[in-house]
Amino acid sequence: MTSLSPCQLPASVAILGSTGSVGRQALEVAEYHHIPVDFISAHSSVDLLEQQVRRFHPRLCAVADEKAAADLRTRIADTPTRVLAGSEGVLAGVGETDAPVVVNAILGEAGLLPTLAVIDAGRRLALANKESLVVAGREVMRRARERGVEILPVDSEHCAIFQCLQAGCKHEVRSLLLTASGGPFFGYSREQLSRVTRAETLAHPTWQMGAKITVDSATLMNKGFELIEAACLFGLPAEAVTVVVQRQSIIHSMVEYIDNTVIAQLSVPDMRDCVQYALTYPARAEGLTPPLDFFSLGRLTFDRPDLETFVLLPLAAHAYSLGGAVPAVLNAANEEAVAAFLADRLHLTDIFDIVCETVEEYSSTAARVETLDGILATAREARLAARRRADQRAH
Ligand code: MG
Repeated sequence: MTSLSPCQLPASVAILGSTGSVGRQALEVAEYHHIPVDFISAHSSVDLLEQQVRRFHPRLCAVADEKAAADLRTRIADTPTRVLAGSEGVLAGVGETDAPVVVNAILGEAGLLPTLAVIDAGRRLALANKESLVVAGREVMRRARERGVEILPVDSEHCAIFQCLQAGCKHEVRSLLLTASGGPFFGYSREQLSRVTRAETLAHPTWQMGAKITVDSATLMNKGFELIEAACLFGLPAEAVTVVVQRQSIIHSMVEYIDNTVIAQLSVPDMRDCVQYALTYPARAEGLTPPLDFFSLGRLTFDRPDLETFVLLPLAAHAYSLGGAVPAVLNAANEEAVAAFLADRLHLTDIFDIVCETVEEYSSTAARVETLDGILATAREARLAARRRADQRAH
C-alpha cells in the first residue's frame, strides 16, 4: 500500500492585519500547522502586536501608525524582530518578506496598495481584504493576470465558489449562487430597522467577526461587496451572481453549471478553514474546525433577500455595472456612515440613505474615471461628502 504524500505547506507566511479577526485566525492556522511566520503588520494595536511578536517570532513587523511603531520598537527591543513604520513600512515589508504566501487581512480601503504590492512581488495572495476588489477590482485582476499571481479568496463565499469551480470549466458556468446568512435583521421592515440599536446590530447570528463587517452584514452591504468581489474574481457580470439567503451559514456558496447541476461547498462556519485552504491549495490538510454533523443540523433553509428594504445590495450590483470609480464611492460612503453608526451618532437606516445619496451624487462623474489615481481621488471626495451627510444627520 502506498502512503499518502504529506500536504504541501508553505515554507512560511506573512499576515497583514494580524491583530484583526481574520489575522488572528490566520495566526492560529499557522501555529497549528507549524508554519513559520515571517512578517506581520497591523494598524496600531501595540499590546496585541507585542504578544504576537513574542509568540510567533516574525523577522519583520510593520505598524502603519508611526507613533505606535515607535512604541512597539521600544517594547520589543529585546527581540530580533525588526519594526517597520508607516503605511510605507507595510509596503516595504511586503517587498522584503520571503514568504511565498501573503494573507491580506487589512480592513478597508487601506488594504488596496498592499494587495497591489503583493501582486507586484509575485507572491500568492490570500485575499481577505474585500475592498481591494470593490475599489479597484479590474486593476487588481489585470495585474495578477499579467504577473501570473494566484489570488486565493479568504472570504467564506468566495473560497466556496473557488472550490465549486473546480468541478467544471468557466464556459460551462451559468451562475454563481452567493449565499447570505441574512444577518440579525432578516425579515425586518424598514420601519423596524430604523429602531435597532448598535448592540443588536453587533450580535451576528452565525459568524464571529469584527465590528465593521458585522454592521455591513446587518445592512447586507457586505453581501453587495461580496457580489462585486465575486464578479471581479471570477470574471462574470453582476447579473450572473444570484444571492440566496441560507440562514444556517452551512452552505457557503454554490455554482450552477449549464447542465443544471449545482455544486455546493458546505462546512461549519469558521474562517480558519478558508485561510487554511488558501495556504495549502491545491492540497488539503487536516482542519482545525469540527466536521459537519448533518444529523444534529436537521434542515437547511433557502430564502430570497428583500431587495426593497435592504437597498444596499442591489445598489452594489448597480455600482459594479456602472464601473469606473462608482464601486469605490460606494465603499467610501459606507465606511464613513458605518464609522458614525459605530460611534452611536446615527440610526442604522441613516447608513442606507447616506450611501444611496452619495452614490447618486457621484455616479455620472465617477463612472467615467479609469485610472487608479483617479479612482482613489474620487473616493476621497465621496468620503468627505458622506462625512458631511453623517454630520448633518447625527443625533
Ligand atoms: Mg463573507
